[in-house]
Amino acid sequence: MSAVIIDGKEIARKKREEAALRASSLKQKGVSPCLAVVLAGEDPASVSYVGAKEKALGEAGMESRDIRLPAYTSEERLLSLVAELNADRLVHGILVQLPLPAQIREKAVISAIDPRKDVDGFHPVQAGRLFLGEPGFIPCTPQGVLELLRETAVPVSGAHVVIVGRSNLVGKPLAALLLRRELNATVTVCHTGSGDLARYTTRADILVAAAGKPGLITGGMIKKGAVVIDVGVNRVNDTSAKRGYRLKGDVDFESAAQKASYLTPVPGGVGPMTIAMLLHNVLKAAESCAGADETGGRRD
Ligand code: NAP
Repeated sequence: MSAVIIDGKEIARKKREEAALRASSLKQKGVSPCLAVVLAGEDPASVSYVGAKEKALGEAGMESRDIRLPAYTSEERLLSLVAELNADRLVHGILVQLPLPAQIREKAVISAIDPRKDVDGFHPVQAGRLFLGEPGFIPCTPQGVLELLRETAVPVSGAHVVIVGRSNLVGKPLAALLLRRELNATVTVCHTGSGDLARYTTRADILVAAAGKPGLITGGMIKKGAVVIDVGVNRVNDTSAKRGYRLKGDVDFESAAQKASYLTPVPGGVGPMTIAMLLHNVLKAAESCAGADETGGRRD
């Protein structure tokens, strides 16, 4: 068996086109969707993510306000910047690129963002809404995973989904989404305390790997015909590559392709979807802001 490779780039391109149309119709109403992108320090992966996000915003006709801070920035300085951005009516979304330098508490910064502008969906209010099944911003990566499944017409209702990884960014919100009645999956979440991973992964109809461990999931750990979504993005040394490294997923692609029915590649799978979903979250924030202006300032 050889898996069908899910083309995340192509699905993301369609989502970005949709975003461009929504952005243009908002502009006609006098609202120019704008995301403030804050980067503290020069972590190479973060610099590259931020660049990709800003490029995608520009291509969809949306604005980004690029704010670069030195690695020695204090927490106080970042918090006061967030307060300024919260109050700025021209900014609809705020993205603080993680990880932050060690002297800044990520929790403090995320909690300081106005939940109405928290397009990453990391604020405790947004996380709470997600777990309660209430409307709010859904974190971009889990949202991207669901879109990939939807676009590939993979049935989720009644499926057993096994997620490897329980981070607040990926595993936990994805599990909460899949448990919603409208998606109706049965979910198992694995982590470093799960012991023999294969015991769980071989039972998955849909397997999502989000552990940050290159090649952790091999073909032998996959049920024949399962759908495999690889969220992992890991830099592995490769002297033959121009940059000295290449990107590798959490799934061993070659052996997995022999067992899975559908499989996402890395790069070109979940990554592009994460960015496309960010555009949609910024639009949602801008649309809700535009609606609030029409209703005298109420936005929630
Ligand atoms: P994280 O915060 O480090 O969490 C990793 C999770 O995986 C933890 O829950 C950890 O378990 C679990 N884990 C690690 N090794 C494991 C093992 N050997 N067996 C079972 N569970 C294991 O990482 P993250 O932020 O969720 O990111 C995960 C991966 O996705 C990374 O490669 C990241 O770069 C990638 N990512 C990609 C995108 C994208 O757009 N494509 C977006 C976000 C993240 P414990 O909780 O027990 O420690």
